[in-house]
Amino acid sequence: MKKTALITGASGGIGSAIALELAEAGYDIVIHYHSSKEKAEQLKQRIEAQYAVFCMCVQADVSDEAAADEMISEIERRTGGVDILINNAAIDLPELFPEKNAETFRRVLDVNVIGAFNCAKRVYRHMLEQEYGRIINISSTNGINTYYPVCLDYDASKAALNSLTHNLAVQMAPYVHVNAIAPGFIGTEKELQGYTPEFLKEETDKILLKRYGQPEEVAHLVRFLISDQADYINNTIIRIDGGQTGSV
Ligand code: NAP
Repeated sequence: MKKTALITGASGGIGSAIALELAEAGYDIVIHYHSSKEKAEQLKQRIEAQYAVFCMCVQADVSDEAAADEMISEIERRTGGVDILINNAAIDLPELFPEKNAETFRRVLDVNVIGAFNCAKRVYRHMLEQEYGRIINISSTNGINTYYPVCLDYDASKAALNSLTHNLAVQMAPYVHVNAIAPGFIGTEKELQGYTPEFLKEETDKILLKRYGQPEEVAHLVRFLISDQADYINNTIIRIDGGQTGSV
């Protein structure tokens, strides 16, 4: 049976790579975007030109429960339901620690944690009914080890997302597998913008492999984790960071 994958934040760097990878693997694709409609539409055209899969775009602010509900209802009307959910949408605000405040902190938690919760809770209905579902939360090594203190609210949100992953895995077992991927430095176009070669060298020197990761490398891992070959992998957080953070 054909499976439908919803990738939130598919208008972004890593999300679009995941959408392309899963289209190549034969999944029907739902591209979610928040404000970048044009990027989402371009990705849809690319997928439809390259792969023989169904593809649609949906818009929502995932932090808004009603909007997330309506988005998933629309997907259900058009595809039957979400079988695979990739919670990838997130924000990372640039202010330094002293400029941060409770309102911006809350916004980061709203999008990065509550947004993932809203989508997971809503797709669970269909997943439980059909006794199958896969959820991957795109977290960050910043949720495990804090390297950049300027990311204080972002780091807290990713640590909370890791906790949410474990909790959802327990609540949704045995039919729905819930895992998280924690990327380190991934060189998306946006991430690389404004980096001087010196800063880039300084950052990549901290990584055992002496390079940043590619969005496609994260996408390959997503593809594996939702495949039948990964059926015994559940309730875990997998780092993909070139060995930057090591492991316990
Ligand atoms: P990105 O290019 O900035 O993409 C972020 C996506 O989130 C965009 O599609 C954006 O949609 C969407 N988004 C933002 N606010 C939203 C909201 N309120 N509701 C719904 N969607 C919203 O980021 P990225 O680098 O590809 O990162 C993707 C994921 O990987 C994130 O979870 C990030 O934390 C994680 N990650 C990235 C790195 C890295 O080095 N790049 C490292 C570790 C973890 P619009 O553009 O349409 O508004």
